[in-house]
Amino acid sequence: MKPRLHKILSKKKFEKNDIVELLSETDSVEKNKIRQKAYSIKRKKLSNAVYFRGLIEYSNICSRNCFYCGVRAGNTHVNRYQLSDKEVLEAVDYAWKNKFASIVIQSGERKDNDFVRKIDNLLKKIKQNTNNEIGITLSCGEQSEETYKKWFESGAHRYLLRIETTNEKLFNKIHPVNEEVNFASRLKALELIKKTGYQTGTGVMIGLPFQLIDDLANDLMFFKDFDIDMVGMGPYIECNNTPLSIHNNILQPLNERFELSLLMISVLRIMMKDINIASSTALQAIHPMGREKGLLAGANVIMPNITPLKHRVDYLLYKYKPGTNEKCDTVKSRLENNIKLLDEEIAYGKWGDSKHFFAKRKNKFNSATQSEN
Ligand code: SAM
Repeated sequence: MKPRLHKILSKKKFEKNDIVELLSETDSVEKNKIRQKAYSIKRKKLSNAVYFRGLIEYSNICSRNCFYCGVRAGNTHVNRYQLSDKEVLEAVDYAWKNKFASIVIQSGERKDNDFVRKIDNLLKKIKQNTNNEIGITLSCGEQSEETYKKWFESGAHRYLLRIETTNEKLFNKIHPVNEEVNFASRLKALELIKKTGYQTGTGVMIGLPFQLIDDLANDLMFFKDFDIDMVGMGPYIECNNTPLSIHNNILQPLNERFELSLLMISVLRIMMKDINIASSTALQAIHPMGREKGLLAGANVIMPNITPLKHRVDYLLYKYKPGTNEKCDTVKSRLENNIKLLDEEIAYGKWGDSKHFFAKRKNKFNSATQSEN
């Protein structure tokens, strides 16, 4: 290992320039050293457990117009759908019976009463039908404090809202911003999610046009400063019929975005040892073993898609989306085989909450009791 890299990796805390240096590494032997360090931390702190979250893509109806996203409101080439309660509950039943123990409900963003009520009722039914045995993560975008509270009280206990990028100028290039919806509103939403009591997750897209290594280093520092509990980040992948695709000619090649995403996972794992990190589906869109490689880079969560097959092609966020015609059982047994080969173990029947979330709470409690004494 280069002495410089060795010095950085032996530090207790990274400075910004350390992170930039790690993310700029191009030598594959050196990159492997970074990954190995991250993976050994993952094994030591979080064992060889891999947690499954059954991903339910609830609806592609969206009120937002994010310039990178295939299901953006303005994309007229999308066949819009919303799952019926029965379809959601059947998917949940599959997850429950197969001991996935946790699900994620992800959806295009809507704030109207009908949507808020539908999700709320579903949460209650899911808890009831599974004897409270299923853990629920929501990924339904920016909502009011009242809605976050309502859904929390009805049974969701983790919430994922990607900041997408912490560079506000870049954020403004990839989103239509107005007085109501902007970088500040995204940050505020994350604060509200945390305040409500959710295990709070965020993430970014990696390899966006105009994005620099410096931006990605700031993203990782943001996760640390915000004391986030979970991260789901992955490569930006171009999508037809989106405004951002006019910049496809300046994108890094897909394999470089892939490699950089793995490096982001590894550096984050070294910085935040006990958080949950998802190995994103977008990694698998670039490489058939992408999610497994994400695990070896330091991730500990995988989200197998359990959306009814007929709707998967309509939740097309980006090109090359994998698994649009693969049955849940096929994916499950492939992941089982691959994960076993890595000497990792799927933690069936366990929620797999963020250890960091509970460690934080314990620390807070201890310092409160100490100051009382
Ligand atoms: N509406 C919710 C929200 O905004 O959080 C959840 C749905 S949104 C489609 C889920 C995530 O998909 C976004 O946070 C974004 O990072 C990711 N995504 C959308 N388009 C993408 C693309 N072209 N490449 C990679 N990820 C993309």
